[in-house]
Amino acid sequence: MAIDDRVGQAGSGVRRDLRDALAVLAATPRLLVALDFDGTLAPVVDDPEKARATPEASRAVERLIALADTRVALVSGRALKDLEQVAPFGDEVLLVGSHGIELRLDEADDVLALDADERQQLGVLEQVLDQMAGTLDSVWIEPKPAGFAVHTRLASERHSRVAHLVAINELKAEAPDATVRLGKDVIEFSVRSTTKGEAVEHLRRYTHASAVFYAGDDVTDEDAFVALTADDLGLKSGVGPTAADHRVAGPAEVASVLSLLATLREAHAADAPDTN
Ligand SMILES: [Mg+2]
Repeated sequence: MAIDDRVGQAGSGVRRDLRDALAVLAATPRLLVALDFDGTLAPVVDDPEKARATPEASRAVERLIALADTRVALVSGRALKDLEQVAPFGDEVLLVGSHGIELRLDEADDVLALDADERQQLGVLEQVLDQMAGTLDSVWIEPKPAGFAVHTRLASERHSRVAHLVAINELKAEAPDATVRLGKDVIEFSVRSTTKGEAVEHLRRYTHASAVFYAGDDVTDEDAFVALTADDLGLKSGVGPTAADHRVAGPAEVASVLSLLATLREAHAADAPDTN
């Protein structure tokens, strides 16, 4: 049956090639839907604590959670605790925080434990970054479980540039093993290295997914897009170069895509014989 007959008006705003790709994906035996939060499910706001998924995205996520053989994961640069606050979807959602350093899976997982070397490096990071932030307006440092984020969203262009240069140069000298990640208005320094790509690989194995849907908006999401295979679907939210096969304008459009994916997956589930 044609997709349009099955899902009616749902997803009528979604491009044809993307709709076709979603229809194929929705028929996979075990689906993992892995989603970045900020700039993808939630519009970016000045106060990160106030960020929330759009109502349509939230509804789509809830529908996907309710489906058999379908898992939803949030993959964020935010610390896990922070992610739980802004994205209260309940325990069925798998959570990956700090770009893959922190995980909340179905069972209580190992908490992040830093070794002596990592703790020492963390101390050096803190010293260097605090000193720098003290000299610049509207640049603030957020502690992360294995590092720090330097936020420059509210800083002037010049102070933001200075913060980037100082932080990167100083730390190259003082803490050469720290991992540096550049995002939108944020630089992250971590004493433990992992990427969203590794996070997606981990989640794929954990959920035994036969295909993965991944959506993200930032530079760090590119690691996840690169980790996708031909059976998966990558969706870039917003502007900027990307390895994703598909792109939409922003969180409102991501929500439409997720709604359509939920509708297609529900239609597939209704057609499939009950194997339980
Ligand atoms: Mg994001």
